Amino acid sequence: MPRPVEAVVDLAAARHNLAVVRRAAPGAKVMAVMKADAYGHGLARLLPALATADGIAVLDLDAVHTVRAAGFGGTVLLLQGVWTADDLRAASALGASIVVHDPRHLELLARVPPVRPIDVWIKLNSGMNRLGFRPAAFRDACATLAAHPQVARRVAITHFASAETGEHVDAQCALFDAAVAGLALERSLANSAAVFAHPRTHADWVRPGIALYGATPFDDRSAAALGLRPVMTLRAEIFGTQTLAAGERVGYGGTFVAPHPMRIGIVACGYADGYPRHAPTGAPVAVAGRASRTLGRVSMDMLMVDLDGHDTASVGTAVELWGAAVPVDAVAAHAGTVGYELLTARAPRVPVRVVDAEA
Ligand SMILES: *Cc1c(COP(=O)(O)O)cnc(C)c1O
Repeated sequence: MPRPVEAVVDLAAARHNLAVVRRAAPGAKVMAVMKADAYGHGLARLLPALATADGIAVLDLDAVHTVRAAGFGGTVLLLQGVWTADDLRAASALGASIVVHDPRHLELLARVPPVRPIDVWIKLNSGMNRLGFRPAAFRDACATLAAHPQVARRVAITHFASAETGEHVDAQCALFDAAVAGLALERSLANSAAVFAHPRTHADWVRPGIALYGATPFDDRSAAALGLRPVMTLRAEIFGTQTLAAGERVGYGGTFVAPHPMRIGIVACGYADGYPRHAPTGAPVAVAGRASRTLGRVSMDMLMVDLDGHDTASVGTAVELWGAAVPVDAVAAHAGTVGYELLTARAPRVPVRVVDAEA
């Protein structure tokens, strides 16, 4: 029997979340961001649920192959562009679109004609200071690419640094508007947070990632409040119990000390499964569907939970680490990180079971 830990991926929830995004951005095309193996859910696994998106954004050619092999005929965008001449030829052969964010991409396009016309998403650095051209260089790049015989559609793309708080969104928008003024380009600005919080940024294409997986980009608005449903449930079982006397310690470093006699459960999920080691005592879990908490340090292959008030819990009892009962965002907040990191950290050794609640 396999170790009792698994990730359950719900295709119906992903379809639901895509519909929520479409309702929030009714005028825009949706580029489903499926980088990092669809935020840890499995790209090939999730494609059937998200294939009605207008586009799919990934990072590497293997992922483009996967998306095309699944029969997806829409836009497939390489979010960091291409690295070599071979990549450029392969990307164009697969009908992928590329982000152009650096002068070396312009050189590459000039030197290596794509095997067929390619769509370019020209990136403006509007203030995040990560990828993209400054406004003057952006306009030069647009002009250069307009004259390129093998460039088909041109899209202007930029990315917000703080869409979840709204900080600097106006400034980034103003810079973007000035940079694209008078140019016949499609436009794309909005990540998940901007889809919900900044409708004026929806433009031609929105680029939601985290919302499609049913987690929130916000600190102060839960996924449930946004109408989203979690796609991934991480669950395991109790495979041992201990009864502690007051004063006894739990786990490595003994960071939790029983304040009174208590029973604890040992759960078959640890940091090598992708559960955050830095989550201290008190991370929320659900034992047989009822709220409880972790105790002590998370180990590589197991963690401990409080069974006070869970008298019927024993070996074999299900524990949800995150999912519908325990929002991944709540675990992340307790661990000082974001849901993105926990979802993408799901370890390959955790088997995935696909369900489709509506099927
Ligand atoms: C990852 C990414 C997104 C999606 O961001 P979410 O916060 O997950 O919605 C959108 N655009 C770009 C350029 C990205 O890298």
